[in-house]
Amino acid sequence: MAYYHIWTIGCQMNQADSEQLATSLERLGYQSASEIEKADLIVLNSCVVRQSAENRVLGKLDLLKEIKRLSPDTVIALAGCMVDSEVAQLKHRFPHVALFLKPGQFNELLELAKAQAPKASGSFTTPKLSPTAFVTIIEGCNNFCSYCIVPYRRGREKSHPIAELRCQVESLVQRGAKEITLLGQNVDSYGHDLPDKPGLADLLQELNSIERLSRIRFLTSHPKDMSRKLIQAVASLEKVCEHISLPVQAGDDEILQAMGRGYTVQSYRELVEQIRFAIPTVALATDIIVGFPGETGEQFQRTIELISDLRFDTVHIAAYSARPGTLAAKRLKDNVSLSEKRRRLQEVEELQEKIASGINAQLLGQTMEVLVEGKKKGKWYGRTRTDKLVFFEKDADCLGQLVNIEVKKTSPWALQGSPKPSIVKT
Ligand code: SAM
Ligand code: SF4
Repeated sequence: MAYYHIWTIGCQMNQADSEQLATSLERLGYQSASEIEKADLIVLNSCVVRQSAENRVLGKLDLLKEIKRLSPDTVIALAGCMVDSEVAQLKHRFPHVALFLKPGQFNELLELAKAQAPKASGSFTTPKLSPTAFVTIIEGCNNFCSYCIVPYRRGREKSHPIAELRCQVESLVQRGAKEITLLGQNVDSYGHDLPDKPGLADLLQELNSIERLSRIRFLTSHPKDMSRKLIQAVASLEKVCEHISLPVQAGDDEILQAMGRGYTVQSYRELVEQIRFAIPTVALATDIIVGFPGETGEQFQRTIELISDLRFDTVHIAAYSARPGTLAAKRLKDNVSLSEKRRRLQEVEELQEKIASGINAQLLGQTMEVLVEGKKKGKWYGRTRTDKLVFFEKDADCLGQLVNIEVKKTSPWALQGSPKPSIVKT
């Protein structure tokens, strides 16, 4: 028997890539090893979007030196956004790594795994999936926001045709998926490179008709590209969840311009207004970068003001770190001190904690539909259509079921509840 271990860090696209790789390896007869030391094949699916993520990958690579020393036959592969075109340099830096694979490009690894396959692929039985699955609908990004390394590492946008995606989702549903999340760095530009130029709204319409699929989500949206047609699709298609991830990044026009985001604070506010008008129960998530080069205290306060005014359900906050090769790293001085970045980050965190606490407190006593994803410390957990994490207790096996939960307790991060007498659907 041969074992593999995949370590993943970074965005949902990396998670989706790792899930696909795991399935392919299992088809070849490999088994997942929970402990990295036991694996014959180790894959690090890396992220370098921020310095902090890169540091964690470097730490892991360092650790693997010892594993390679103790078991020289172990094959180590580095995949994901740390792999650029300078493979020779990477080989020199990490001599214990055998393969360097650009994001999502696992062919070389699969060829090698096949050559060393422990048994014939015919014996593979498709493993049952988790109730939620990711599907990448558009690769790469054409936007080149000045701080972002993604377009350099994941290349230009390439959409997958609607028919292919429908097949992929149907097969996931057959294996037990109830909810799918459509992924792209900018899902709103889905389809512009395909022959009939379909949009995300068309794709949602198509997938909405798949029987036994209960929920559809998508991320990430770009404020400059979100169309009225898409908003209407979310409002009208029953399987599409009321949950939109719309990164604003900053609340000041000069900073937005320096970031190359292509919208103003005012146009972002108007977009949020439109979305909330069309989908009153919508939950909105956003991303914020604090300490972008040149961000003054006043400009940062405008971000605070925007967050206070718009009251997002979730805010993902990052301190700016210069990424080599990006426009910001080349042209702008990273002049906000680390301590000031940390202070700003904490200010946003504290504000958001209060806002989320208030939003979630309003859910007390309401009954919400939860798709059960697993069990932790004796409690079932899952998410509402609005992406709220909910915990509850029940003796029966609820995995993969849609359960009605009455909210009994709330916090900024999660809800606790108890099941209403009947399970809604399976
Ligand atoms: N495509 C999405 C968008 O338009 O916002 C997000 C993709 S990006 C890979 C994920 C998040 O990482 C961004 O929203 C941003 O907040 C953060 N990020 C990207 N580059 C960064 C940098 N150089 N420093 C800090 N955070 C960064
Ligand atoms: Fe990066 Fe901007 Fe593309 Fe998002 S839209 S992946 S932030 S370049």
